[in-house]
Amino acid sequence: MAVLEIVTVGDPVLRERARELSADELRSDEVQRLIDDMIETKRAAHGAGIAANQVGRALRVAVVEVEPGNPRYPYKPIVPLTVIVNPEIEPVDDELFAVNEGCLSVPDLRGDVDRHVNVRVRYLDRDGEPHEEVRRGLTAGTFQHEVDHLDGALFLDRVRDPSTFSTWEQFDRHRRAEFEQRARALVERVGS
Ligand code: ZN
Repeated sequence: MAVLEIVTVGDPVLRERARELSADELRSDEVQRLIDDMIETKRAAHGAGIAANQVGRALRVAVVEVEPGNPRYPYKPIVPLTVIVNPEIEPVDDELFAVNEGCLSVPDLRGDVDRHVNVRVRYLDRDGEPHEEVRRGLTAGTFQHEVDHLDGALFLDRVRDPSTFSTWEQFDRHRRAEFEQRARALVERVGS
């Protein structure tokens, strides 16, 4: 396994729609190694997720995982390692929540993005097995963020109020307390 370079905003690969993987491609050593490397890269960077575009490959595969004690997102519920291949996502209802997001490909910037609170996700795991799950709250937001990457979108595109942009240091100073309170109340109410 290897820690890969994470590309940053401005690299055209982040604006590509990643293409679906065939069953044969998914089984290949090359793609299985890519998945292992994405997991290691995500863990090394303490991200909540990573999409293949972010390591320079426009393929529809992403990894979501929030480990206990994640220093970037201490308020996010724990999410076991989930590899999603060819994912499709749809809202379950109309409820939205303003999530303050960051991204490994957008260094030192955060902003408020409206995300669906309840989404249905269909995907293949790394063994090609199909899954269908409902994800809720901040976890639903993380899945939407990763599927956005696969569609060539960044959280920057979805920030409605540019005055919510902040560095991570300024977020800690001025926004974290209020956001964490709202986020924890959401997680308590809807789960993950
Ligand atoms: Zn991201």
